[in-house]
Amino acid sequence: MQVPGPFEYERATGVDHAIALLDKLGDEARVIAGGHSLLPMMKLRLANPEFLIDINDLAGELGYIDVGDGVVRIGAMVRHRELLESDDLAAVFPIFRDAEKVIADPVVRNRGTLGGSLCQADPAEDLSTVCTVLDATCVLRGPSGTRELSLADFQLGPYETAAASNELLVEVRLPRHGNGSSAYAKVERRAGDWAIAAAGAAVWMNGKTIEQARVALTAVRPDPGALAELGEFLRGAEPSEELFREAGARAAAACNPDADQRGTADYKRHLASELTVRTLRRSVERLAVAERG
Ligand SMILES: Cc1cc2nc3c(=O)[nH]c(=O)nc-3n(C[C@H](O)[C@H](O)[C@H](O)COP(=O)(O)OP(=O)(O)OC[C@H]3O[C@@H](n4cnc5c(N)ncnc54)[C@H](O)[C@@H]3O)c2cc1C
Repeated sequence: MQVPGPFEYERATGVDHAIALLDKLGDEARVIAGGHSLLPMMKLRLANPEFLIDINDLAGELGYIDVGDGVVRIGAMVRHRELLESDDLAAVFPIFRDAEKVIADPVVRNRGTLGGSLCQADPAEDLSTVCTVLDATCVLRGPSGTRELSLADFQLGPYETAAASNELLVEVRLPRHGNGSSAYAKVERRAGDWAIAAAGAAVWMNGKTIEQARVALTAVRPDPGALAELGEFLRGAEPSEELFREAGARAAAACNPDADQRGTADYKRHLASELTVRTLRRSVERLAVAERG
């Protein structure tokens, strides 16, 4: 079945209007941003909203990338293409450009949004991993105001978030601290496909030692607690190939991938290890290049 069920459609004119519509229409309403996840689900009848609230006219209000000294604020309606092309963002968080280069194709990137990606909470979504690595805070707005949740508290599980039916994700905040860099690497079956497995890493240095490091994995059912322990293991160490290899082994042990048409569990675990090594190495190399000026 490739045709969505019947639904009513309304175009929101602003954030307040979208929230008022969500509040009025209740559980049967869904917002549509880029539509690249919601529409396929509707065509497969995996989602059957009675009302669609189109939020594309909110791109003016929620389409900003604000690179501040202490925090980077990105509006929920920023499209993949804008994340890919922003030199300001790439200068502080190169992991975004790494990831966007391998997300889908230009048609999807022209429409799909950061907000839609995080709200979809697909375990194979690349931007969820990027935002986990960067310790993102999600800003939600509803009829009674705004609230902030860590991404871990926002994404409750596959395809499930903590957003109430009358709340909109409006902004993602990413803290900046110290001398850091980041990287993302993915293995897919063909260009633009969803990940077989992918890894993201960010490293902050204090002199010759790692002050803080974060690793996250895509599409391999990672254990967040074990990845947090991996970050602790890296803290205070001097970067070396041996260290990265040990981190890779720990990343492989921290995931529990399903075998499917994309590969066996062992193959995906191998990728988790190798891609963790590469992204840690790349993050540190980027810092060294930046220091050489
Ligand atoms: C062919 C194809 C290939 C793809 N390949 C990849 C890939 O390799 N990697 C990858 O990461 N992604 C991939 N995607 C998904 C793509 O990144 C989507 O753009 C993204 O998942 C969803 O963004 P969207 O704006 O299209 O969201 P939509 O489809 O509009 O919405 C998704 C969900 O989020 C909700 N929502 C959207 N915005 C908000 C908001 N601001 N507040 C509250 N709820 C909201 C909607 O109600 C819906 O439930 C692919 C998609 C396609 C069609």
